Amino acid sequence: MADFVDIMDVAPRDGLQNDPVDLSTEDKLELIARLVAAGLKHVEVTSFVNPKRVPRMADADELSRRLPKLPGVSYVGLLMNERGMERALAAGIAEINAVTVASDAFAARNQNMTSEQSVDLAIAILEAARAAGVKASVGIATAFGCPFEGEVPVERVAAIAKRLAEAGYPEIALADTIGVATPGDVIERFGALAAAAPGVKMRGHFHNTRNTGIANAWAAVSVGVRGLDASLGGIGGCPFAPKATGNIPTDDLAYMLARSGYETGIDLPKLVEASTWLGERLGRQLPAMLGRAGIFPKLAA
Ligand code: MG
Repeated sequence: MADFVDIMDVAPRDGLQNDPVDLSTEDKLELIARLVAAGLKHVEVTSFVNPKRVPRMADADELSRRLPKLPGVSYVGLLMNERGMERALAAGIAEINAVTVASDAFAARNQNMTSEQSVDLAIAILEAARAAGVKASVGIATAFGCPFEGEVPVERVAAIAKRLAEAGYPEIALADTIGVATPGDVIERFGALAAAAPGVKMRGHFHNTRNTGIANAWAAVSVGVRGLDASLGGIGGCPFAPKATGNIPTDDLAYMLARSGYETGIDLPKLVEASTWLGERLGRQLPAMLGRAGIFPKLAA
């Protein structure tokens, strides 16, 4: 069996949270259904954050309650604090993704706390998730650089990963929140993660802000990362990271991995169809290239 790479589509959350178009809950549910129909087993569906700060995610509770339960499909809710955890549990979310931040300046703007406090909080969230029987993973934001502080020392990222792994997080993502990472950084920082937290599952979260996103994904896979976040069509951007642009496109990533002999479980024609639908809904051409250029080789209809 080919090596499996678990792609989590984050379009409904990271993709839409800052979009000029406020997609209806119905349309979000259809987007999620289309992703699942295309073979995605992991979809980050929303975030349980303050709707005053992230208005696009104000329907998190209703949306989560209306998701159809499907075997093998995991809907993930992003959250940053215990209030978010309570909401996620009340809405029936079975998997949560917590956020820590590697730099103090970004932690202050994103979560109104220090980097260290964000780690303490993620550990408290893990305990609450365990008590509730909910799966949990965690990400380290600004793991490759901070829009306010600049360089983030690799030692700081490794120390955070060590604390999170020791607390029991089975999976840790390094997030390039502002899209500054290069393949060299990716190899260095996932190497440091593997050394600091041996045995933990590694996930990469890349933004394509400087067009290095897909190269970073490939670099991550080459050093044993088997979880990657991506967004349908390549939509996205963080409301608290100036000039942040989209995630790497799920479309192009799935194509690259499939043609390179990796298994993703994704049906490319269905994924492109979903991406085209999303572009129509958002009223613009999305960044992903696969739908424009066409799948190669062309599959018989
Ligand atoms: Mg992001």
